[in-house]
Amino acid sequence: MSEPGGAAPRWPEGFRSALCVTIDVDGRYGEANYRAPDDTYWLSQTAYDPTGLERLLAVLADRDVAASFCWVGRAAEDHPLHVRAAVAAGHEIALHSWDHRAYNRMTPDEQREDMARTMEALTGLSGTPPVGHKTASWRYDDATHRLAQEMGLLWVMDEPGGDLPYLIQPEAALPPLVQLPPSAWLDDYTYFVDHVLAPRQVFETWRDELDVVHDEGGLTCLTLHPFVSGRPAASRALAWLLDHAIDLDDIWVARADAVARWWLKGAMG
Ligand SMILES: [Zn+2]
Repeated sequence: MSEPGGAAPRWPEGFRSALCVTIDVDGRYGEANYRAPDDTYWLSQTAYDPTGLERLLAVLADRDVAASFCWVGRAAEDHPLHVRAAVAAGHEIALHSWDHRAYNRMTPDEQREDMARTMEALTGLSGTPPVGHKTASWRYDDATHRLAQEMGLLWVMDEPGGDLPYLIQPEAALPPLVQLPPSAWLDDYTYFVDHVLAPRQVFETWRDELDVVHDEGGLTCLTLHPFVSGRPAASRALAWLLDHAIDLDDIWVARADAVARWWLKGAMG
């Protein structure tokens, strides 16, 4: 793999690789995209979001780890105290659409309006304008990242084009965005909802993924959901992974905005 910006160090001094923990707070709006309106069996599971979020905040606080919380605007309005609790604990707040509808089924104007509305709500609740965006369900299209550039954002987390951040600049006249690569195999939904595995198996899979990326000096981006990874047993997968990362001693566990700023600085020289 090539070094960004020539001889500049890939990561801050003392760190061999990086890990971003991102937590998508979809509320019931995420599941509403996948389930029938009368499927209260599944829709009701998201009622656990506040409890799960509090447990994840505790897991992060116990290990002094800062994460990035990607909020659906409507979910944030439903749980303003939880937005503020995450901010007070030092976590980043990022955009995750207004109500979790697929952007690639919207026109560019609809996407722009959706992003702006979410930005306004999250800025009001958190006190700071978000600088990052993760498209709901990773259903983006050609317009999405141009609009993120238009909004003056710093990072997006939509496309797994490798194990390092990379710059994208769909609109050449606007500053580039840092693409932080997520993965379906680093998404709790894959392991605890689509296929139900024991937290130990999930931890072992994530640990092996992290170890390989760590050896190679890359970036691991984890995607979690409070009503999934915030469940009592499932929360162990995150706790064990963070303990493992901390034991390795040279993994930079950082918020997405910090990783993106570092990368942009290195890439632009
Ligand atoms: Zn989501």
